[in-house]
Amino acid sequence: MVLRVGVVGGGQLARMMIAPAVELGIELRVLAEEPGMSASLAATAVGDYHHADVVLAFAREVDVITFDHEHVPQDVLAALVEAGVAVHPGPHALRFAQDKLEMRARLAELGMPQPDWAAVSDAGELDDFLAAHGGRGIVKTPRGGYDGKGVRVVNSGVEADDWFAALAEDARGGSLLAEELVEFSRELAQQVARRPSGQTRAYPLVETVQRGGVCAEVLAPAPHATDRLVEVAAELGIAIANGLDVVGMLAVELFQTIDDRILVNELAMRPHNSGHWTQDGATTSQFEQHLRAVLDLPLGDTAPTQPWSVMVNILGGPAEGALEERFAPAMVDQPSAKIHTYGKAPRPGRKVGHVTVAGHDLDDVAYRARAAAAFFTD
Ligand code: ADP
Repeated sequence: MVLRVGVVGGGQLARMMIAPAVELGIELRVLAEEPGMSASLAATAVGDYHHADVVLAFAREVDVITFDHEHVPQDVLAALVEAGVAVHPGPHALRFAQDKLEMRARLAELGMPQPDWAAVSDAGELDDFLAAHGGRGIVKTPRGGYDGKGVRVVNSGVEADDWFAALAEDARGGSLLAEELVEFSRELAQQVARRPSGQTRAYPLVETVQRGGVCAEVLAPAPHATDRLVEVAAELGIAIANGLDVVGMLAVELFQTIDDRILVNELAMRPHNSGHWTQDGATTSQFEQHLRAVLDLPLGDTAPTQPWSVMVNILGGPAEGALEERFAPAMVDQPSAKIHTYGKAPRPGRKVGHVTVAGHDLDDVAYRARAAAAFFTD
């Protein structure tokens, strides 16, 4: 019996499920947006995931449908469920990763710690929120944001006028999300895997470093984290996974505030950049774990295999030529570095690969990971 997993979306997250799928003898199929994508190394169909008939036809070839991203519309997901397809995570969970306003409302119901927030439907309402929060705040588009796009610091409601205007044009209408500007000492991420049968496993809490709204580095486990912080973050991650009935990998992005509280920033229900280190630094990588979870197989050990892992993203890539042209010098200089490329054309700011180094000394590991990654950008 061959287990077959269908991944909607042809990006690097789907690509990185291929290696563990091969190891476990799982047949991985991908529904890619276009030919020649990151995940096209797997058996790939090309089609538009906005169309239920396209996704239904793809689903007939597999045992379970999962995702490389959170953008599959709810009506398409509903059609799959109605047709009896196993969809993990299910639409009832995914909506909280698709819409930041829905996420805030649900997390509030679950009593999770989060920034002060409000749904605001015009500049006046945003001004009222800002006035109540020291005159500054964050405004976010609830849907479709990623890597800091759709997130803005504002001092006045009119600074979001373009987004309010876009909402007015959108048939779905709706509001923007206003949040207090959190004073954080650092950003953290807690990953949890959960199976349909309810088994959960938490990964070590990690520190994520953002530059320009994009994840630049991940330090695993989070340095200087107290036992209490680690415990609270894991409990919070598991409570969210259970509370939202997530199946697969869940990433909870967190702020550690300057007064040492942790607040939930946002959720991702798929493998996540904060967990790439697990490929080379944990007993079970997040990609293998996601496959196990969506197939309802027993989850693997999440313990680190080395005291420290540092993952550095390759952003943009070389100004000229392919990433692969830099392999030899990087490999000579940093033989302990594990280099991962996504088969994507270099473009400024684009995530085109990452490097992980694992070892005993955090400073040394971080130095080596940064040195190796530096070979791939100009
Ligand atoms: P995206 O969906 O684009 O990843 P996020 O909601 O994660 O957007 O926000 C991107 C970044 O903006 C965060 O990693 C954080 O650095 C900053 N940010 C987001 N919300 C807040 C907030 N309420 N207070 C302070 N900084 C924030």
